Amino acid sequence: MPALKDYWPLVLEDLRGRISNTNFKAWLAHTDFVEVQENGRKIVVSVPSDFHRKYIDSKFRRDLQESVKKYYPQVIHLGYQINKPAKEVQEIQQTLSLEPGDASNKVNNQPDTDSEPEKLSSYLPKKSLNNLNPKYSFENFVVTRNNALVAGVAGAVAEELGNLYNPLFIHSKVGLGKTHLLQAIGGKAIENKPGFNIKYIPAETFINQWILSLQRKETNLFRDYYNSIDLLLIDDIQFFAGKESTQEVFFHVFNQLHQNNKQIILTSDKGPQELVGIAERLVSRFGSGMVVDITRPELEDRLSILQDKVARMQLLLNPSQLQTIAERVQSNVRDLEGALNKIQARIRLMPGREFTDQDLEQILSSYNQAEQNLSMPMTDQSPDAILQAICRIFSLQKSDLMGSSREKNVAMARQLAFWFYKHELDLSYPTIGKLFGGRNHTTIMHGYNKIQNLLNKDPKVKDKIMMTKKILASSY
Ligand code: ADP
Ligand code: MG
Repeated sequence: MPALKDYWPLVLEDLRGRISNTNFKAWLAHTDFVEVQENGRKIVVSVPSDFHRKYIDSKFRRDLQESVKKYYPQVIHLGYQINKPAKEVQEIQQTLSLEPGDASNKVNNQPDTDSEPEKLSSYLPKKSLNNLNPKYSFENFVVTRNNALVAGVAGAVAEELGNLYNPLFIHSKVGLGKTHLLQAIGGKAIENKPGFNIKYIPAETFINQWILSLQRKETNLFRDYYNSIDLLLIDDIQFFAGKESTQEVFFHVFNQLHQNNKQIILTSDKGPQELVGIAERLVSRFGSGMVVDITRPELEDRLSILQDKVARMQLLLNPSQLQTIAERVQSNVRDLEGALNKIQARIRLMPGREFTDQDLEQILSSYNQAEQNLSMPMTDQSPDAILQAICRIFSLQKSDLMGSSREKNVAMARQLAFWFYKHELDLSYPTIGKLFGGRNHTTIMHGYNKIQNLLNKDPKVKDKIMMTKKILASSY
């Protein structure tokens, strides 16, 4: 006679037919039968995390109950038991009985101390610098139908680093919340695991760090640096396209971290299979954990995002105005935010006067025109956006560009900024000089000419310019 437990796979099979495959994989595939209680009236099911328990209970309880009923007909109640995946249990045991000799574990878990300066190259930020921006949190991420699965999975992964889905690969078109979620996971991880070595790295930064480490013959340093990370968040991995040597080193970093159950999370503007210029062995690794995408928000979703943001910004707009914005701004969340920012700016300009439908119309009409011209990517060409993009590529801070360091990497980045200010913004040399902390106009001219000369000779320079432009285009 089969044991009660033996029916569980049948329940799962039945569930598989009721809910989408991705939802099944994300939430139910890791459940198991524990026992029945109360004379068979209650079944206890194990789930990998408390997050799973809540999620399953709120989203799939009915499906679960119906499937259970088929094979356990007496059951009326469902109970859950949280069974952390075995690896985490091992880890906890290891930490508890950590031998003094076990240095490798300890070093990683220790926070930075001033007495122990890290000998790292300037382009590899210290362990304590994770590049996370607290403005991106789960708390202010609005869950809508088009992102519910991703948001749920991201939340679960943040609680169960390395144990659930590794890697997690999130993809979508621009402005739909990939960076936001990636950073939110990082933020959550800092709360939960204070000693963790967490790094948020835009793919362009990774590429540039690798090139610098090649130039300086510090490739071992680079590898050690990445191999010691506990949670690696790489944004916009599509930029790895065509960068063979970067892909090569990343492949090894990936394998190393993965083997050690270190969580890897990647974002991209395309799904793994659609990526062009990325080596097949990487593509298959990208797809080997969980792949989730964010689609565009529908009208109703856009409306709920607007409602949330308006409340946070304390903007006084009436429901019909919100409806109008949601109908007209269809592209993505970034554009919805952009529209609200314009409205906020307008309201500030006219204190005491009500924001009327005409005001809104004016803002939306300019907005729509801009959008219609947008068959080509529109570029945010403000001086600040340019500096930000360059800093991102060279892994520098704005203060480095403003400062006086003559380090090659810094000097190059700075001259590139001069070049952009001149070439793209058409500012005069003296003006650029002023913007860069009162530099002489001849310095600016020299820098500009230098880049202009290298442009057709040195593919690396051209590459940097292209990358900057890509970032500017995607950050609009
Ligand atoms: P992507 O990385 O996909 O291009 P971002 O994460 O940069 O998009 O999102 C663009 C902007 O929209 C950010 O300011 C982000 O905070 C906001 N945003 C995106 N999705 C949401 C959401 N669901 N709730 C709240 N804000 C969102
Ligand atoms: Mg992004």
